Amino acid sequence: MGDRLNSREIPGGGIEIISLPYEQGPCGGVWRILKIADVALEEISGREPLYTNHDLVHNVPLMEEYRSKGLVVFHNNWQLVPDQSKAFVIPSAHGVGPDFFVNAQRKGCIVLEDSTCQLVKKVEYRAKAAVANGYHILYIGSLLKNGDLHPEPDGIRRHMSPEAIDILIKPEDIGELNFEENQRLMILTQTTLSRTETDDFVNIIKSRWPWVEVKDDICYATDNRQLAVSELLSKYGDVDLLLVVGSEHSHNSQELLKIGLKKDIQSYAFDDPNKLDPSWLIGKKHPIVTSGASVITPYVDQLLERLITFAPSAQVVYEDPVSDENLELVFKYQEEEIRQKIREKYAI
Ligand code: SF4
Repeated sequence: MGDRLNSREIPGGGIEIISLPYEQGPCGGVWRILKIADVALEEISGREPLYTNHDLVHNVPLMEEYRSKGLVVFHNNWQLVPDQSKAFVIPSAHGVGPDFFVNAQRKGCIVLEDSTCQLVKKVEYRAKAAVANGYHILYIGSLLKNGDLHPEPDGIRRHMSPEAIDILIKPEDIGELNFEENQRLMILTQTTLSRTETDDFVNIIKSRWPWVEVKDDICYATDNRQLAVSELLSKYGDVDLLLVVGSEHSHNSQELLKIGLKKDIQSYAFDDPNKLDPSWLIGKKHPIVTSGASVITPYVDQLLERLITFAPSAQVVYEDPVSDENLELVFKYQEEEIRQKIREKYAI
């Protein structure tokens, strides 16, 4: 007789509990821009594309869905936007510089709404006001996987002269900088950074320039999703797998992944539920399934369904909130104005 596998050697066979943190999935800013795009695409009704400078949100399969409905991402190459034909444009949720609106006007486009997340706008306003009051900005940001500056810091820096801001990606970046004691300094941050890493980074900057003013710009959604995973790791001592639904270039998803990796827990981030590799489940007992702020619920549901096919007897636990976040929150947008701008063009 051949050797029989015990249940823990079969992918998923040993899984007893699957924990889903309450705080996961889309945030107010992501819901807002998706609703803006939905309203615009519905009203345009296939007559022409809706243009945006960058992926509306960092979620590859979701953006593919929107492309199939008529969204065109022109990657800041305005030559791809038709000239003087009242093309409809919206900026991505990560924010843009004033050049976006100048270019849109030059090309004769109709900006349907500033769909930048309002929490990114808050940082933008704060940065501009600080610079107007003589501050130099030390902005802690990130790069995309391809090495390009993330669009959020890229948008912020375009609102000021290059001398007014330094974008810091890692603590070593402060090495070359020097400021007089009378130079007012302010730390601002990208909204989707790791809370713990940013606190460490801020302390390093403060040790060099103790008079620096620090603003807390990490957004509630980023904070809550990270806190929810950290709390579950503390609550259960037996979590041995972290599955994050989120794209490679989604910074907040990658930060969730890092929480597991730092604790030496096998952790994966992927945006397509079909990418779940059954071999990851071998010998596992208690996975956490979470998702970044740019991931809508159906993707998580699909992953959960797939996981359950490997672990049909596992108990699925929808965990309690660790914050007062309202997951239904949609930041305000001007639905009627968007519809009106489109109808005016078609005289309907
Ligand atoms: S993650 Fe935060 S900053 Fe980004 S869109 Fe969501 S709420 Fe806005």
